[in-house]
Amino acid sequence: MSIFGISIELHVTFILLLVILLGYGWFTAGFISGLKLVLLFVLLFAVVVSHELVHSGVAMLWGIKVPKITLLPIGGAAHVELPEKPHIELIVAVSGPLFNIVFAFFVLVLLWFAYPGAELFPDADLLKMSDAILSFDGLLRFLLHINIVLAVFNLLPIFPMDGGRVFRAILALFMDYARATAVAANMGQYLSLFMVFAGILLPNLWIILIGALIYMAAGQELRVVRLRHALAGLSLGDAAVRDYEFVHESMSLSDFMENAIKPQLSYYPVVDASGAVVGMFNPELVEGSAGGGSSVGEFMVRDYVTFSSSDIVSDKLLGILDKSFVFVEEGGKIIGYITPEYLSALARFREIRGSAI
Ligand SMILES: [Zn+2]
Repeated sequence: MSIFGISIELHVTFILLLVILLGYGWFTAGFISGLKLVLLFVLLFAVVVSHELVHSGVAMLWGIKVPKITLLPIGGAAHVELPEKPHIELIVAVSGPLFNIVFAFFVLVLLWFAYPGAELFPDADLLKMSDAILSFDGLLRFLLHINIVLAVFNLLPIFPMDGGRVFRAILALFMDYARATAVAANMGQYLSLFMVFAGILLPNLWIILIGALIYMAAGQELRVVRLRHALAGLSLGDAAVRDYEFVHESMSLSDFMENAIKPQLSYYPVVDASGAVVGMFNPELVEGSAGGGSSVGEFMVRDYVTFSSSDIVSDKLLGILDKSFVFVEEGGKIIGYITPEYLSALARFREIRGSAI
């Protein structure tokens, strides 16, 4: 099935869930009850798919590709290829629960007008609930209920659920994206374990299942930490980019653009009058409004650390991810540099090479 070019896939466990529900209804209250129960869940998942389509639609507005949505028994997952931009992630993450809130609001208004004074929430018993959706007020009450539950549940700050993504996006405004992911994913794992315990105490199988699945999903996103493994054993001297050219901090931007710029280089270590490295210059970061009279020094990034070439990358990983770039020195001389982006690329390369051979 495909909507707006997004293919919607039913996970095999989702089909299994429907079969189990049919069986459960059938054996406890007859075949028709089984069918009603299936209908109840199809309705629930229609709302879940709408929620995912809203995420996807908003992501697509930003030009982000959404190849597919997978439906699992516990909900849906849109495969959004988000760039590491916190504000876009924030908007995309918030859009799904916002859809449910707006939906719930309209249903509530409809209920108020059509059935003033009526009970707002459906019966807690699944079979009674599935009976009730065949009437209009029962249907409205069910829709109100699931939209509120979906909004609240998805907004819990448990990464990688929507609320957790919002949390990560906010963290990412203050720290490196990879670190924000690690913090949010770690917290997501603790909270999901807490969910599993709560589910055991209640006891509620659904909460246990959801907690376990979130735990795993957070673990997947912790893949960032795999950088550490992909780069294991590598020294900073091995990893350093050695292809660069120094520029003088007093060099004017117009001189730089005319004489010093090399298309193959994106970073230029900046030296002061004494020849000491004082920062890093990235021509892409120069604002369009900057006049040619401005100097390279005005636009250089000073947020750096210097590590020794014999330091091990995985030991210094957090320190490297914390900074815009790292200079690598050997015997008191700068022999290269590393950026977090470059490390990721290097990790991918090493993973591909490792799996291909
Ligand atoms: Zn969502």
